[in-house]
Amino acid sequence: MRKGVCAMHSGGCLCGNIRYQASGELSFPHLCSCPHCQRLSGSPVMSWVDFPRAGFEWTGPGGEPVWYNTFPDSQRGFCGVCGSSVAAQDDSDAALVGVTMMSLDDHGALVPERQSFRPNAVPWLPIVGARD
Ligand SMILES: [Zn+2]
Ligand SMILES: [Zn+2]
Repeated sequence: MRKGVCAMHSGGCLCGNIRYQASGELSFPHLCSCPHCQRLSGSPVMSWVDFPRAGFEWTGPGGEPVWYNTFPDSQRGFCGVCGSSVAAQDDSDAALVGVTMMSLDDHGALVPERQSFRPNAVPWLPIVGARD
């Protein structure tokens, strides 16, 4: 992250093959307990934030992530080398790209606002955010 430039964010995968930079405004930090997030991560929740696609670029040696279609119009992006989940994109909302919160270099100040797919949440982990 470029210190002092408030709207610039960077991040990437565990091995550094996939890297990204985003100059747009970060939005909607949230947890998701949908079946796809659970199966993809092997964990009860995944954490996501959105960036405008304008100003977002893949900067690592691996270029773009490997994309896997979870629905015909929805893809999850992961590193083909280390397997880290890095991104998600949806054809119905092509103006945004989602990245996993923990892939951000500067995730420390981020607090998830809510949790999506609450009915699918596991009963042994507290749910984040106010009820809908
Ligand atoms: Zn990697
Ligand atoms: Zn999900």
